[in-house]
Amino acid sequence: MSSPKVYVLAGPPGSGKGTQAKLLAPELKVPHISLGDLLREAVRSGTEVGKLAKSYLDAGKLVPDSVAIKVAEEAVTKKECRNGFVIDGFPRTLEQAKLFDALLIKLKFDLSKVLYIDIPLKEILKRLTGRRSCRNCGAVYNLTSKPPKVENVCDVCGGELYQRKDDTEDVIKVRFGVYEKQTSPLVDYYKKQGKLVYIDGTQKVDQVFKEVCKAVS
Ligand code: AMP
Repeated sequence: MSSPKVYVLAGPPGSGKGTQAKLLAPELKVPHISLGDLLREAVRSGTEVGKLAKSYLDAGKLVPDSVAIKVAEEAVTKKECRNGFVIDGFPRTLEQAKLFDALLIKLKFDLSKVLYIDIPLKEILKRLTGRRSCRNCGAVYNLTSKPPKVENVCDVCGGELYQRKDDTEDVIKVRFGVYEKQTSPLVDYYKKQGKLVYIDGTQKVDQVFKEVCKAVS
């Protein structure tokens, strides 16, 4: 029997990797893991990891590799992931990528593809300053391209919408800088492994998703 497959959604903040991961996971009938969501949840519930991670998240910086890998390992070793999974926001540094490779070998998973969704900074600023998320169900909106029907109210569950603390212009610029310095080297790392698929993230969500599906088929 072949090893369960793992798909990584990578790209700068605001590229739509979370949106695409949320669409892809049900298509493949596997769970979606978002490291950013797990860290935000840890902050909300005040766990030790959350207390440690909060200042990094607020400042738009990466939490230490040891913390990120611990949170990722805990998530992917859950039994729901035994048939494979889709992950976004991890790995984000070369160190994380190497540790992730080792972990997947140990767990006998096959890192099938890294879908790299790219967009320029100008577009990132436009998207992220308009992003709003539901406190209750996590649905994501954009004030320009996908506004909720009623201001500040989630269409799906009626929950309250909020703006992420790290979605202000200053913090977005920090996040983009962090991305360029620490995360963009992963493009070469996975290219060398023959696993990278480049996708133009400036297209509409459906068009990007078509390309994502083609890449995994
Ligand atoms: P995201 O929701 O993917 O935009 O992530 C939000 C924030 O969570 C980032 O700006 C980091 O502070 C933190 N974070 C998410 N994933 C990682 C990771 N792999 N390594 C370190 N920090 C991370």
